[in-house]
Amino acid sequence: MTRLGTVLVVGVVVVLGVFGVWEWVDPASARAVNTLETVENTGPADNRIDLVVIGEGYRAAEGEAFRNHVDNLLGGLLATEPWASYRGAFNLYRIVTESVESGADHPSAGLYVDTYLDATYDYLGVERLLVVNEALAISVAADLLPEVDLVVVLVNDTLYGGSGGSVATVSATDVAVGILIHELGHSFAGLADEYTDPLPGFTPGDNEPNVDFDFAFDQLKWNAWVEPTTPLPTLLSDAVTDYLPVGAYEGARYLETGIYRPAPHCMMGSLEYDYCAVCAEALVLSVYDRVDPIDTVSPPESPVTLDRGAPATYPVPFEVATVALGGDAGQTVTWWLGDQEVGSGTALTLDLAMVGPENGTHDLRCEVTDDGTWVRNDPDHALASERSWTVVVTGVSSDAGVDEDGGLGPDGGPENGADPRGCACGTSGPSSASGRALVLILVLILLLANRRRRCRTRRTAWRTPRGPW
Ligand SMILES: [Zn+2]
Repeated sequence: MTRLGTVLVVGVVVVLGVFGVWEWVDPASARAVNTLETVENTGPADNRIDLVVIGEGYRAAEGEAFRNHVDNLLGGLLATEPWASYRGAFNLYRIVTESVESGADHPSAGLYVDTYLDATYDYLGVERLLVVNEALAISVAADLLPEVDLVVVLVNDTLYGGSGGSVATVSATDVAVGILIHELGHSFAGLADEYTDPLPGFTPGDNEPNVDFDFAFDQLKWNAWVEPTTPLPTLLSDAVTDYLPVGAYEGARYLETGIYRPAPHCMMGSLEYDYCAVCAEALVLSVYDRVDPIDTVSPPESPVTLDRGAPATYPVPFEVATVALGGDAGQTVTWWLGDQEVGSGTALTLDLAMVGPENGTHDLRCEVTDDGTWVRNDPDHALASERSWTVVVTGVSSDAGVDEDGGLGPDGGPENGADPRGCACGTSGPSSASGRALVLILVLILLLANRRRRCRTRRTAWRTPRGPW
């Protein structure tokens, strides 16, 4: 496959994605019984990117061929960075469909077959432009997997072909992985094409994260990746590798001049390369746009009360379940009690010794931060997440003495009005009616004033995957 051929396919694909020209519905196609199969499950669907591959042009007897093709396709995708490093953020599925015949239509050759999603080459007269009934594909995926985020259609045909948009379509060829990786750069991360081949009629712009009309350092949107010694604009003769230095190389988004890309080469310019650093960063940020690094925490509710008079209430085990990533990606988990760091790792045991001798309230926070090197520009702190609890320390230790004035002993807390006689007999004190009332009031005040904080407001609804842009 020549670069030009690749570019032509991808370029036309973008146009189609923008205008959504192949969204037709053929109810007659909805004849088969479809089956959802899990390829890889890494966690709860509402905190994962749920990617599904739908088979098209596979007859009932070709189910195993489809499964093998999916394994190869997803295996190639997940062997590519940064997908490999964030594998744990994805749930992967396949949908087995049954077509009457194999393959796809080839109108230019007068060949037509009866397939479930009506796949056809030659769209708009471009042989390699392979499209399907996109609306039906989305419907099939959503019916079986309501949480679906990304839809890929794998067409059982050996002729090179593909297309992008809200559904990525690829044929089962040796270069299917490359096509998919490129198209997901559009649909998942909102990346622009970085090649210069003209695309007449396409609206100029530089909104995508990997193209910029400006090349001056202060204005360059990816300047976090640019060394001070790198000339701007940057010439290909300045390049020391296919991807470095990151600078401002003229030519991208179907224009040879007046717009700049970050690196000498990139997957978004030609399928023979990897993503450049800026495109990889955009992909990782897109992961965190959809996935909270924290899955669950325990205890789930706040406030948490430690009653010195009730040993059963302490120590309190805290735990955070994080999204297990993969490859080179990792996380740092840090626990803070007020301004003091009190632990690291996913578990913490909070005991009275950590809160000190005074009764009162404390803010306990757990911070989870991506400690990888894929992202340098994270103004919204998307790579970090935290949970916090209000910890209420109250009561009197069971061995607490009683002051002459009726207050608490030297190891006790403040003179909070608890009945000292009750403390002595072990049936009152913090457990007395007045003590419980005070605690209740305090808890209510805290509930109103200190609602559980989160460093980021996570959306509860998944965003519809963007089109090519
Ligand atoms: Zn790039």
